[in-house]
This record gives sequence, C-alpha cells and structure tokens, in this order.
Amino acid sequence: MGNGTAIITGGSRGIGAATARLAAAAGWDVCVNYARSDKAAQAIVAEVEATGARGLAVQADVAEEADILHLFDTAAEQLGPVTALVNNAGVIAPQMRFAEMSAERIARILAVNTYGALLCAREAVRRMAKSRGGQGGVIVNVSSMAARLGSPNEYVDYAASKGAIDTLTVGLAKEVGNEGIRVNAVRPGLIDTDIHADGGAPDRAHRLGVSTPMGRAGTAEEVAETIVWLMSEKSAYVTGACIDVSGGR
Ligand code: NAP
Repeated sequence: MGNGTAIITGGSRGIGAATARLAAAAGWDVCVNYARSDKAAQAIVAEVEATGARGLAVQADVAEEADILHLFDTAAEQLGPVTALVNNAGVIAPQMRFAEMSAERIARILAVNTYGALLCAREAVRRMAKSRGGQGGVIVNVSSMAARLGSPNEYVDYAASKGAIDTLTVGLAKEVGNEGIRVNAVRPGLIDTDIHADGGAPDRAHRLGVSTPMGRAGTAEEVAETIVWLMSEKSAYVTGACIDVSGGR
C-alpha cells in the first residue's frame, strides 16, 4: 500500500471511524485508537482490512502520557513508521452555565481535548521530524466551530479546550514546516454523531442544524473527506490552516 501508517485517536466511533475507513481506502495503514469501545474499534479495523490496508486497534486514554507512548510505539512496531496523526479523540460534558461547572469536569475536558492532543502532537513530531531521523508527515487536529463561537450556556469549557487546538495548529505548523511536517486543523460544525448524547442532547445536531446556512447537520463522512485530503499530497502546500467544515455556521 502507498501512504504509510496513520494513527487516528478516537477512531472507534463518529468522525474518527469515518476517517479510518476513508484513509484506508486512500492507501493508509490505520491504527485505530479508542478508550473504551473495544468491539467498535475491532469492527472498524475489520473494515480497514477489507480495503486491503493493514489495521490495528490500540486501547489508550489520550489523557495519560504512558498510554500515548504505548499507542505510538505499538503502531510503529506493528504497522511501520507513523507518518500521519489525526488528533481526533474528544469529549464534551452535559450542557450547563460556566459558573456551575465543577473543577473535575473542567480538568477532564482539558485533559482529553487539549493536554491529550498536545502530547499526541509532540509524540508525532518526535517521530516524524527529519532532524530526528524521521521521514516527515502530517498532523490533522480536530478542533471545533466551538473554538470560534464559544458555546455560551452549553460548553464554554469545551470551546476553550478547542481554542487551544487552533493555536497549537498555527504555532506548531510554523515550528515544524522545515521538518517535513504539515500541521492543519478542521473545525467541524454540527455533525451527527454520538457525542451530542454525551452532552445530554442526542438530537442537538439535527435540531440546530436546520438553522445553519445549509439547513442541515453534517455527517462524519463529510468531515473525514476534508481530513483525508489534508493527509494527502493533494494538500502539499497547505499548513497552519484551520478549515471550517460546518455548512457555513
Ligand atoms: P464521538 O462519536 O463521541 O467519538 C469520540 C471518539 O473519541 C470515540 O472513538 C472515543 O472512544 C474517543 N475517545 C473519547 N475519549 C477518549 C480518550 N480519553 N482517549 C482516547 N479516545 C477517546 O465523537 P465525534 O463527534 O466523532 O467527535 C470527534 C472529534 O470531533 C472530537 O474531538 C470532537 O470534539 C470533534 N467535534 C465533533 C463535533 C460534532 O458535532 N460531532 C463538532 C465539532 C467537533 P471510545 O468509543 O472508546 O469512547
């Protein structure tokens, strides 16, 4: 196969799972990371392998540095040098006003969405950088339109955790441009996945999607198409970009 090894954090469901399927079809060997959904991750690996690509599921909580090191080591050992990271794992918590949020909730949101994404990006750079013996690569961070809209009365903590992802994207792209590494982000809008149920509003994407310029929620596949384009040589001169995939929201 053509492209090398891609790690997709949170690849067991939603946008990550759709990205795993499309990346495999585009010639990537795919390491599907997950936190709890073992069966779902194994099912995505089977779909990856059905395309002729190699697949691997690795359990790792991206909020734990030791788990991240295990994830990157296992992917490289089993599939070969990692040349793409899709920093996708993310969580929200039930909608509430900011003043009501517990310290534990805020810490967990930042641990998974921000700290985890930063450490995964660091590991990717350590392994991809040409000055460190790597062969270059691509990092695609999954941010959110929340980073720009702020999610008042719902998830200001989550929005702030994603604002950091946009800043990471811009700064790291500038830092590692001469290392053969491109760093970009997508900002999904209202996408129909399970994440909204975790936030206490399973119908949120459809309910609010009708009021967006395109009049509907987006699909995980529509976000994955942009991610896989950013992973590909077709976007060879794109770095430091944050692309809205939001139907104009
Ligand atoms: P989802 O359907 O809830 O899937 C989340 C994925 O992340 C699952 O594979 C989950 O694994 C994994 N995950 C959660 N915590 C993890 C951890 N600590 N370590 C490793 N993996 C973990 O969510 P989604 O909607 O596809 O969201 C994917 C990304 O898009 C997130 O970063 C989210 O913030 C962003 N996003 C989504 C939307 C939207 O409307 N859906 C909009 C903007 C941005 P398990 O299955 O094992 O729990």
